[in-house]
Amino acid sequence: MLNQLVNAVVAAVLLVTALLAALVFNGSVQRLRAVHEMEDQLQVYRLALSAVEHVSAERGPMNAALGRPGQFAPALDAARRKTDVSLEALRRGAAACNSCQLGPYEFAAIESELQQARMQVQNLLTQAVAQRDPTQMSLAIDRMIGVVDLEFRLIDQLGQSLQRLAPEIAAPVNRARLAARLRESAGRLGSKLTVALATRRDLSSAERQAVAELLGRIRQLSELLQTSIPAGQGTGDEARAFGRVADIYFGQGMAYFDATLERMAQQRGPSPAEFADAYVPSLAPMVALRDLETHLAQSRLAALQDRAWWVLTGVLVATLSLATLLAVGVVMLNRRLLSPLLDTVHRLIGLTQEDTTFTPLAPAQRRRGYARELRTIFAALRHLEELLQRSIHVRRERDALIARLHVLAGTDHLTGLPNRRTFEQRLLQAGAESGGQMLALIMFDIDHFKQINDQHGHEVGDQLLRQFADRLRSTLHRPDQTARIGGEEFVVFQAVARPAEAMALAEHLRSALSRPFSIPDHGTMAVTASFGVALTRQNAKLHTHELLRRADQALYRAKRAGRNRCEMADFDVSAYTSRLEGEAARLQ
Ligand code: GH3
Ligand code: MG
Ligand code: MG
Repeated sequence: MLNQLVNAVVAAVLLVTALLAALVFNGSVQRLRAVHEMEDQLQVYRLALSAVEHVSAERGPMNAALGRPGQFAPALDAARRKTDVSLEALRRGAAACNSCQLGPYEFAAIESELQQARMQVQNLLTQAVAQRDPTQMSLAIDRMIGVVDLEFRLIDQLGQSLQRLAPEIAAPVNRARLAARLRESAGRLGSKLTVALATRRDLSSAERQAVAELLGRIRQLSELLQTSIPAGQGTGDEARAFGRVADIYFGQGMAYFDATLERMAQQRGPSPAEFADAYVPSLAPMVALRDLETHLAQSRLAALQDRAWWVLTGVLVATLSLATLLAVGVVMLNRRLLSPLLDTVHRLIGLTQEDTTFTPLAPAQRRRGYARELRTIFAALRHLEELLQRSIHVRRERDALIARLHVLAGTDHLTGLPNRRTFEQRLLQAGAESGGQMLALIMFDIDHFKQINDQHGHEVGDQLLRQFADRLRSTLHRPDQTARIGGEEFVVFQAVARPAEAMALAEHLRSALSRPFSIPDHGTMAVTASFGVALTRQNAKLHTHELLRRADQALYRAKRAGRNRCEMADFDVSAYTSRLEGEAARLQ
């Protein structure tokens, strides 16, 4: 269950990650595609700018030819070929650009207008210079200008589409268009003089008006360009390029133009060819500025493309890393946590069923797992807890029983006094703790007890023995230092300072025990006992058996001496030691 849950969570996380990655990936791919489209459109835009420049440039040799005799003008032919080549390149570029959405009709209109204008020029060129009609010339020139206007409509359309698609390059795209328009307007300004120069007259008032309008337009375009060029940014290439336009066109070109106007007023104007040769080169910095701007747009697009690639690569790497990390995590989780957990559950369940042989889970079982691992573990633990509590209870009962057995094993069952075994243990311990004192052992035996049994029955004998023991216990300071060691035979031990003390204790006991006992249904009954007293030496190692034997001997003497008396065992040191040595030798 748990492993299935983990698998489900991992699958969900993977799914979400994959989804997010797909989204980001898709975004990056879209971005890359958009950048490609931008590049395509920028390429067509450049071709269009180049084409319009060639059409404009064609007017230079055209104007010159119109002011010169003869119908053949090799410079004009060369310019026309250049225009045709650039238009063809534009047409092909536009066809290859899917996102440009330029219909063929736009090119058809441009080409047909261009052919018409050229035909008009050709017609004029077949005539002698003096016969060329100024109005026809003006019309031809205006028609050529109209072609340029048509082309600029195309350029504006392309430029707007490009600015919408790529706001990042909107500024340089716009400045390139402004530079191209400036070049065109400056060219037109020159063209306005062509007819007057060709016919060697001053400007008409209409021409003056047109010149004034064009000058205004040129100033306007120049100001627009100047304000749109960012100051102090980048390498300043644009500012430098604009500086050259200002120097070469507005400085030299315009000075020449103004001088030409003055000379025309004095009827000393140059020929259209002379004028074109001097004036047209001053337009070159505008073309250079235009090319710089398109180049700038191009390099910004390249940077955008690089960034899009980096994002794409980053997304791929991040997704792969995350997937790898998750896979490793799942494997580790399985190995380090889930499998051991399952084994533990399995083992716990085995233990609760009192099965201590652990067989690992089969792979199929492990895959299946347990339905509710934690609940199963807790249930198994509760069960084990109960088992443990039961076992603790049983152990406590057993310990109590053992303690009880121990007491019983050391107790005389009839009288409740310690038995011989307990007595010997205590005697040994007392001997070790006597601290230099003598130990007295008093052994005593009830006199003629057999008769009591014989006369009153065994049961009465038992009752008497119990009462005898009770009195013995109550008479002694230390009731734990006594024992019943035979049928009606008892012992007492006591640390004493002098032998007389031992004898006094024996006498005290003898008199206490000889007082009558009251036996239910049998009235009072008195017994006497005979006492044997044995003493250890000071600081001697205690030999319990030896001591008991000597007390027994003294008891025997008391019996023989007439009973109901106390006898002290002989304290024969030499006999005692030689016996000990004999025993030691035997033990070795
Ligand atoms: P004496 O010691 O004075 O020589 O005479 P005695 O009659 O006491 O002789 P002995 O010590 O040889 O006999 C002990 C008797 O004590 C024998 C037995 O019938 C009796 N006796 C021993 N143990 C018990 C017992 O547990 N209960 C009863 N009722 N009698 C016992
Ligand atoms: Mg006896
Ligand atoms: Mg006896």
